[in-house]
Amino acid sequence: MDTTSTVCHVVAVPYPGRGHVNPMINLCKLLASKKEDIRITVVVTEEWLGFIGSNPKPHNIGFSTIPNVLPSELVRAANYPYFYEAVMTKMEAPFEQLLDQIQPPPTAIIADTELLWAIPAARRRNIPVASLWTASASVFSTKCENVKMNLFEDGDLKLDQTSELGELEDPRVLKLALECISMVPKGNYLLFSSVYELESQVIDSLQTEFPFPVYPIGPAIPYFELEYDSNVTSVSTSGNGLDYLKWLDSQPKASVLYISLGSFLSVSSAQMDEIAAGLRKSGIRFLWVARGESSRLNERSGDMGLVMPWCEQLKVLCHFSVGGFWTHCGWNSTLEAVFSGIPMLTFPLVSDQFPNSRRIVEDWKMGRRVKREVQGDQSLMTREEIAEIVQRFMDLESSDGKEMRKRVKEPRDLCHQAIAKGGSSDRNLDGFISDITKAAAIKRTGVPI
Ligand code: UDP
Repeated sequence: MDTTSTVCHVVAVPYPGRGHVNPMINLCKLLASKKEDIRITVVVTEEWLGFIGSNPKPHNIGFSTIPNVLPSELVRAANYPYFYEAVMTKMEAPFEQLLDQIQPPPTAIIADTELLWAIPAARRRNIPVASLWTASASVFSTKCENVKMNLFEDGDLKLDQTSELGELEDPRVLKLALECISMVPKGNYLLFSSVYELESQVIDSLQTEFPFPVYPIGPAIPYFELEYDSNVTSVSTSGNGLDYLKWLDSQPKASVLYISLGSFLSVSSAQMDEIAAGLRKSGIRFLWVARGESSRLNERSGDMGLVMPWCEQLKVLCHFSVGGFWTHCGWNSTLEAVFSGIPMLTFPLVSDQFPNSRRIVEDWKMGRRVKREVQGDQSLMTREEIAEIVQRFMDLESSDGKEMRKRVKEPRDLCHQAIAKGGSSDRNLDGFISDITKAAAIKRTGVPI
């Protein structure tokens, strides 16, 4: 690439987790497609380059790496608070080193909100910085309230506050997460992977609270790759030799339940076995992504479906034969289901997944709960319960099933309108591009363009 003509060099740095890397990369692809002469360097850990480095990307996006914060992905899943602390402390020095060496000099930084050190690093170098929040704006707003409540005393969570926190996270994680939130006002922009029309009240209020642009640019999901990819004859085998998209092609319309319980947190093996037995008992068609446990579960869940280690989720959700999504309610998964107009069976496991589940079931009325929601509840759901819930949920003819499938249309349409030309997210992306382009021009020439 000819770097001399590049006005705008954006350095993007995601938090090293699937639910963060995906929206950051998708945002970068959107920016790159809207502005040909932008250059974007995405800074990822070595581990993440291994996961995503070979995925197709536009010519104006490149990767740079910094060392992993912990030795392996397994350690991360088993010790989430330890991993979170390591992200907050070990990425900063190599990132700053990279920032000082990279050419052309960065003119803007987009950093995940949950990277405590990113805004200070940008400020020290006088580089404008946008904070990207990858959960819902409502959850961001709740966390802002938590910051104001001053939940910690001498580093410990005040006991009288714990009851206020319905979705209590590990206190170490919560403390650091709130420190990240309190850093946001020191940045220059706040970006949400959300749609204005889906959270308008909260976003309006955040826009008055912050002295700089707050842009909902979502959903930052790979909708722009759907059509492009459908022309490519790629084989979608997800590692175990079976082409799941071909399999989906051969199933009746809206008959398949897609199941994914998130990219790193897991339910117990005993519960997974019970889900497998429940699916077998239900007789419902299913496609289940279960990472490392897929071969064991494949054997136990009968022959009405497939258990895969991984799949291209948005493509699956948009497939005509998929009629429901059993989800842990991560924000990206929630947005992908909204975009695809697929009703959800909600099964939140931690933190923001609980408010997301409430949003899906109570506000949008496009889903049902798998069970009563109590964080940390380890009680086992039996195969009988699961079979019954799944059968009822996938019954397209029942009156509440029909109602739920009608309800998906409104949020889906809002989402599609937002990303269409002239829609709210499209305009916000343009606004953000114009801001960082102007800032880059001032930096280069000293005069505004
Ligand atoms: N995902 C995927 N294939 C899978 C499972 C997950 O592409 O088999 C993607 C999914 O589309 C989403 C992300 O991984 O973009 C998971 O993010 P989310 O916020 O839903 O949950 P998290 O895993 O961060 O809890």
